[in-house]
Amino acid sequence: MFNNLSEKLDKALHVLKGHGSITEVNVAETLKEVRRALLDADVNFKIAKEFTNRVKEKALGQDVLTSLQPGQLMVKLVKDELTELMGGDAEGINLSGNPSVILMSGLQGSGKTTFSGKLANYLKNKKTKKPLLVACDVYRPAAIDQLHVVGDQLNIDVYSDKGNNDPVAIAQAGIAHAKQNGHNVVIIDTAGRLAVDKAMMDEISNIHKAIQPQETLFVVDSMTGQDAVITAKAFNDILNFDGVILTKLDGDTRGGAAISIKSVVNKPIKFIGTGEKMEAIDVFYPSRMADRILGMGDVVSLVERAQEQYDEEEARKIQKKIAKNQFGFDDFLKQIQQIKKMGNMKDLIGMIPGAGKMMKDVDIDDDAFKGIEAIIHSMTPDERSNPAVINASRKKRIGKGSGTSVQEVNQLLKQFNQMSKMMKMMQGGKGKAMMQAMKG
Ligand code: GDP
Repeated sequence: MFNNLSEKLDKALHVLKGHGSITEVNVAETLKEVRRALLDADVNFKIAKEFTNRVKEKALGQDVLTSLQPGQLMVKLVKDELTELMGGDAEGINLSGNPSVILMSGLQGSGKTTFSGKLANYLKNKKTKKPLLVACDVYRPAAIDQLHVVGDQLNIDVYSDKGNNDPVAIAQAGIAHAKQNGHNVVIIDTAGRLAVDKAMMDEISNIHKAIQPQETLFVVDSMTGQDAVITAKAFNDILNFDGVILTKLDGDTRGGAAISIKSVVNKPIKFIGTGEKMEAIDVFYPSRMADRILGMGDVVSLVERAQEQYDEEEARKIQKKIAKNQFGFDDFLKQIQQIKKMGNMKDLIGMIPGAGKMMKDVDIDDDAFKGIEAIIHSMTPDERSNPAVINASRKKRIGKGSGTSVQEVNQLLKQFNQMSKMMKMMQGGKGKAMMQAMKG
């Protein structure tokens, strides 16, 4: 995420390193580079200029903080300003009303349907919410099917009415259906066009007026940079929406949309989409995002993601197995699946302070576990629970079955053995022995 921008800001802020104090000259030099980095990331010119002007004012007025290194001070000022620009505090969505109605708006392909599913799932996981998805795209039957596929996958009800070509009537009927069936949240997915046009704006505006949602969200593809900002403005003029959803932040996004959108429409970014999977949704925290942009990582989000996927019951079972020496490849596979649910690998690594910068040129495949999974899938149940039985001929067979080599099978077995040993030591609280094992 935002690799280029992070790198350039890092370089810009290093200019001040080695200078004893902040002077007008070195501040100006640094800020010129910062501004260039922002413009390269597709941040609107006016916003970039105001940004650096504000940082400059603050930097030159900082008598109190003279004890800090100038480099550190500038990083802090840039971070605070970035946070402010992206929205200050995180803002939740309004879930008052029964049902609370959430209306999705945005262009076709922005990720509305995907996000509707993600949000429904996110709310469902909060236990007290029973969401209903409503399909209001009357032009593309495939869009209705897509929402049903998403709903089936998540075990969430979907309301649609394929013969009906009145989106306002469908939205209203959807809400009535929710009331009758005890759904306390209704998420309405609407039709988008490839570009802003009057018919689409009239339609979404009519739905908005008729159902008066508690929350209107505007979904936008972050890869579209400045266009994202222009589209946001057009939708906001009509809908006066409550929040922005930035999707596709897992891609090669330059960052312009994330940084500019709030100050153009004065509405907070509430969630971000970081992948095609239903779990790839995150609350947007401006300060954490600023940390990530400045290469400081985002450990808090990383831990939260791990906690979301953490299944206490499962963890207890695994602990017991380890204690009894019964931890096998099936359990290992389950662990891998849990890690995968946390998001794509590159994204996760970007959350570790400093690691994003270090790993930027390393090509980390989202399918990093593919080979390992294939090997495990090629094992018999007996081999999985008792890897000791895997002899040379079995290794050959497993290699063949998984499309890998005996060497790769051997490597996995070795790693698995080391891991099992280590886990056993951790269980016994033998920290010292574990450190020893890691060194060896
Ligand atoms: P809609 O036309 O606005 O409903 O857009 P869709 O939900 O159909 O999404 C369009 C495409 O973008 C689909 O292929 C989605 O899988 C993909 N997509 C949506 N959100 C994300 C995201 O956060 N990351 C990535 N990589 N792809 C996404």
